[in-house]
Amino acid sequence: MKTFPMFLRMEDRTVVIVGGGEQAAQKSRLILKTSARLVLCAPELDPELADLVADGKAQHDPAPVTAARFDGAALAFIATGCPGMDAALADLARAARVPVNVVDQPDLCDAYTPSLVDRDPVVVAIGTEGTAPVLARQIKSRIETMLEPQLGGFAALAGRLRGAVARSVPRENRRAFWRWAFADAPRRLHADGAEREAARLLKAAIAEGGAPDDTRTGAIALVGAGPGAADLLTLRALRKLQEADVIFYDRLVDPAVLELARRDAERVFVGKAVGACAWPQDRINAVIVAAALQGRNVVRLKGGDPSMFGRAEEELAAARAAGVSVDIVPGVTAASAAAASLGRSLSERGVSDRVIFATATGVGGGAVQSLGDLARPGTALAIYMGAAKAPAIAADLLDLGLGSDHRVDIVCNASTPHETRLSPTLSDLSEGCFSDRITNPAVILVTVPKDARPHAALPLVRVGAVA
Ligand code: SAH
Repeated sequence: MKTFPMFLRMEDRTVVIVGGGEQAAQKSRLILKTSARLVLCAPELDPELADLVADGKAQHDPAPVTAARFDGAALAFIATGCPGMDAALADLARAARVPVNVVDQPDLCDAYTPSLVDRDPVVVAIGTEGTAPVLARQIKSRIETMLEPQLGGFAALAGRLRGAVARSVPRENRRAFWRWAFADAPRRLHADGAEREAARLLKAAIAEGGAPDDTRTGAIALVGAGPGAADLLTLRALRKLQEADVIFYDRLVDPAVLELARRDAERVFVGKAVGACAWPQDRINAVIVAAALQGRNVVRLKGGDPSMFGRAEEELAAARAAGVSVDIVPGVTAASAAAASLGRSLSERGVSDRVIFATATGVGGGAVQSLGDLARPGTALAIYMGAAKAPAIAADLLDLGLGSDHRVDIVCNASTPHETRLSPTLSDLSEGCFSDRITNPAVILVTVPKDARPHAALPLVRVGAVA
């Protein structure tokens, strides 16, 4: 290592930044995260820096810079934008024995600024000794996804409780207590926004003299896996996957998403195929609850958004009936992914003023009677589970009075490498011309514009009749 990473105390210290433009502003933003006093040396400041001075967050020194200006400073940044002047100013700072960073001139630097992952007071600094700033940023992005945004708050809470732990938890129990605090229910609750509950749990454990005997409290998370592409997963879903002891997943979940789980997490395929459930829902409910009651962290990973045609309510009810804590992590639903793939918006101002998510397949694989009723003027309709019924749906829409050349969009396997998109006319679709190209899973998007004049309330039962 040619450099050595250290965390410098900044309280009651001064940081001098020489320069009044954008580069100086960038360094100021960084230093303002700390409790250091900031002095800006430049004849003139850009509006952002001038505002900092006006708000009392920095001090402005327009006088010519001398070595004395750096006396006692913790750090100096030189950012005049003029290479010759930068070198001379860096020498002045060095004469005052202050570590100096010259923006964009690694050869003139005593100190480099790392890429930071900031969960104050938890801070991760990544440095490459100036060789590869882009790599540092890539590493930073990876670490950003690993650490929940609330982690700093949790660490601060732990810090506040340190004294109480030292008083009430016997020395031999302390390590186990902190392991429990950071790896189990307290951190999980805090990360999910239940800060008070987390604090209450920690304080109860401190009062008891250590982590609960059963140091693991099982829980179930119904996690949205998104439409397929692994990078459409939410950060929270990723965290839940990495915390899971066991993951129950179904057919719509892409293998790439499962790859993101902890290596030693158990993975159980509960094989739900459309209409035919290899695992009946009752059995899924029973196994996820049983796993949680054994104290395991259970993720029930569901395609798209768990609350969209995913029978989440049955799993929620089973968990609650057994007294198991359960939460939902929303995901990107198939209709959103389909619209994104088409490069269009789900709702369109002036064309549709409502978006309806509907299933073409009802309970037990049967038909939904009233799908056509929904296609009123001004409606964008996203139809799920309708691949096999597309001709019948098109026929209904024709009956409703939409023109035979009206086009609908069908996106199969949205966001996956197997994605296909079709935009057939209603007459072609109703005649089954596209049937062999519509593969499951598929979303059908139908826009009935505001100015469409479909027949008035025609009773529409054909989708039902086709089932
Ligand atoms: N909870 C899921 C929907 C489950 S119902 C979600 O929010 O997306 C199953 C239906 O979802 C499929 O029949 C299909 O209509 C739709 N679907 C799921 N993934 C899809 C994908 N990648 N592309 C197109 N449609 C998809």
